[in-house]
Amino acid sequence: MNERNTKQKNIILKVVKNSCTHPTAEEVYAGVAKELPNVSLTTVYRNLNKLAEQGIIKRLLIPNQPDRFEKNPTKHYHVCCEICGAFEDLIKPCYNLNLDEKECLESGFFIKSHEIIFKGLCPNCRKNNK
Ligand SMILES: [Zn+2]
Ligand SMILES: [Zn+2]
Repeated sequence: MNERNTKQKNIILKVVKNSCTHPTAEEVYAGVAKELPNVSLTTVYRNLNKLAEQGIIKRLLIPNQPDRFEKNPTKHYHVCCEICGAFEDLIKPCYNLNLDEKECLESGFFIKSHEIIFKGLCPNCRKNNK
């Protein structure tokens, strides 16, 4: 990998790490473009996917929504606001490892993980909806 590519990759990683939300590739691109005005969205996509394959960041596949990326590699659940699209980590309920082990026995599959995305209204949207 040449120097330019390494620099791009490091800046992309930095943008994901500094992001407290779960940015989409386009949001990461917007952050990266501030430092590297010539970078293309394709380059950002390619690097994000590579970083996710290497397990350095996590890619979240969300039905009917663009993929999101995050720095937190631990298994956890998410909550999504149906109005503004806010997307956050949940501390509780914590990830249920039992569920993976139990399903493993009954289905014959070897289960590695599961994803849960809770849906509803964030505190801001709740306030505005009263
Ligand atoms: Zn909201
Ligand atoms: Zn998360």
